[in-house]
Amino acid sequence: MKINHLGIATKEINEALKFWEDALGLENVHTEEVEDQKVRVAMLPIGETNIELLEPTSEDSPISKFLEKRGGGIHHIAVEVEDIEKSLEKLKSEGMRLIDEKPRIGTEGCLIAFVHPKSTNGVLLELVQHK
Ligand code: ZN
Repeated sequence: MKINHLGIATKEINEALKFWEDALGLENVHTEEVEDQKVRVAMLPIGETNIELLEPTSEDSPISKFLEKRGGGIHHIAVEVEDIEKSLEKLKSEGMRLIDEKPRIGTEGCLIAFVHPKSTNGVLLELVQHK
């Protein structure tokens, strides 16, 4: 397993890129709108992992709610797994609380599923499986 990305909630990706791209020197290699999650996403590789900037595309986006409450910051950590169905089954059998019982389609066609912060010591955890 490895950390696939760190998800950071922002009001505007373009504004956030002034830091992450212009000032820090990372490169935005992929921008995409993930309709299912009502977000726009920018991916900036950093070593073997990525910074994922998230911008809400609607007022009922989970990111809008997060921004209202917290004003931005780390929203989730994404762990890359080989077999997401198996990982979900295992977590469920251990009594862990899942937000997604079945994988959904995420950025770049990956399969993703979220695990509830109640089961992870307060961190929203995303599982990612590459196609
Ligand atoms: Zn993510």
